[in-house]
Amino acid sequence: MHRLTRATLAFNGLGRCFVAEKQVSAIKIPSRGLVCAEHGDDYSKHEVYDVIISGGGMVGSAMACSLGMDPNLDGKKILLLEAGKKKVMDKVPDTYSTRVSSISPGSTTLLSGVGAWEHITKMRCKPYKRMQVWDACSDVLITFDKDNLQDEMAHIVENDIVVAALTKQLDSLSDNVQVKYRSKVVGYAWPMPHQAENSIPWVKVTLASGESVQTKLLIGADGPNSMVRQELGIPTVKWNYDQSAVVAVLHLSEPTENNVAWQRFLPSGPIALLPLSDTESSLVWSTSHQQAEELLQLDEESFVDAVNSAFWSNENQSELIETAGSLFRSTLSAIMPSAGSPRQLPPSVAGVGPKTRVMFPLGTGHAAEYIRHRVALIGDAAHRVHPLAGQGANLGFGDVACLTRLLSRAAFDGKDLGAIQHLLEYETERQRHNLAMMAAIDLMKRLYSTNAAPVVLLRTFGVQATNMVPALKEQIMAFASK
Ligand SMILES: Cc1cc2nc3c(=O)[nH]c(=O)nc-3n(C[C@H](O)[C@H](O)[C@H](O)COP(=O)(O)OP(=O)(O)OC[C@H]3O[C@@H](n4cnc5c(N)ncnc54)[C@H](O)[C@@H]3O)c2cc1C
Repeated sequence: MHRLTRATLAFNGLGRCFVAEKQVSAIKIPSRGLVCAEHGDDYSKHEVYDVIISGGGMVGSAMACSLGMDPNLDGKKILLLEAGKKKVMDKVPDTYSTRVSSISPGSTTLLSGVGAWEHITKMRCKPYKRMQVWDACSDVLITFDKDNLQDEMAHIVENDIVVAALTKQLDSLSDNVQVKYRSKVVGYAWPMPHQAENSIPWVKVTLASGESVQTKLLIGADGPNSMVRQELGIPTVKWNYDQSAVVAVLHLSEPTENNVAWQRFLPSGPIALLPLSDTESSLVWSTSHQQAEELLQLDEESFVDAVNSAFWSNENQSELIETAGSLFRSTLSAIMPSAGSPRQLPPSVAGVGPKTRVMFPLGTGHAAEYIRHRVALIGDAAHRVHPLAGQGANLGFGDVACLTRLLSRAAFDGKDLGAIQHLLEYETERQRHNLAMMAAIDLMKRLYSTNAAPVVLLRTFGVQATNMVPALKEQIMAFASK
């Protein structure tokens, strides 16, 4: 008996989680491919690929490498289409780029597996061993680190370096993966999920050059404004946070080991200092659009003062919270004398890299469906999150690992790569993880967006208690490391 059960997730009505108990009902499948096309032109003249990936950002390029390296997919025709130009890096630039990502151990494993991590470490990346997060309203902190401080918690890598490393790896996989740069997709036509008369058999992809190609499976990795998702009419829950992130490259006052990532929650939004080298760090400061605009306009000295004050000022603290927090801390220390972690102080900032200040409006979004007949969405095309937990690209790399595993198994079993069964497994597995992460990030964002005393007290007690329980912190780290 074929059955599909549908569970609506209790997170703001976000998305939908499919649990394929066995296989999919033939009656349900057509609802996944409502936007269909009949073939008016002679589709047989367009080249047919097994997989086309639309979008060669960090996630799409990783997907192309991952499929290209999988032995079970040997001999499959794989094409990566990227609207932008090829990003090669013959020499690592002297200055750091403003766009960086915190790459989790899970993502490092994926990037190592596809051969890109070696290129990244040869170019430039900075490991960190600890993350200290604290509240501007109470100064209560939580520290995440590995038991053994020799271990790395994550790495800060410039996005350009991740893409350049993947591009280099794709060059060495040219027998398995074809890549077309400056190839913007301008149209898609979708096949019917069943053998309808006049239905085109594969997804048809039309490029700005006028060329058309076809594919048995289209992977949409075309970013938060995904054309694939929009053309399919996939419902998407999204909202803007009324916040922008100001990013910049900062020079520290003095050289330090710089192996800690710092984040302080201000009522206006979190400010993070991510290590780049012994003397430089990357700033991600999420705040109101207005303050973000103002920060961009400030002269260098005033901007540096604003950053230091955001990390050090006590203006949001109150005596009541301070007293209640220290009473609670003393009680916890009496019960668990050896628990907790020492407070470290963040480095002070002395300068900002010329022309490195940029702002990005922040929002979140989640596609209710990650798949349709012969289509899967990955990365920001499927989900977009607030940068406060540094998880956006990591979630995308998780999609890549999961989809590769399922497609590899399908190829090994001689199955059609575009068949809905394994795509449904992909959707179920990834929505479970991604929605849980999105819910946690959104909750954190909302919990810290206020300086109302009851909420501040609640988070003061919650964070202090969590900081005292290593097992709980390990669980949180394990979840964020995937
Ligand atoms: C301030 C900030 C800080 C962040 N920090 C972190 C962090 O620390 N850690 C982390 O994991 N994530 C972080 N993120 C999130 C991360 O940057 C994104 O999740 C990630 O870049 C998404 O990658 P992607 O490949 O899915 O999409 P994109 O990077 O948007 O790539 C999409 C690609 O598709 C191409 N494309 C689009 N349309 C077409 C078309 N029609 N035809 C052909 N090609 C097309 C584009 O040219 C582009 O190359 C941060 C985000 C912000 C804004």
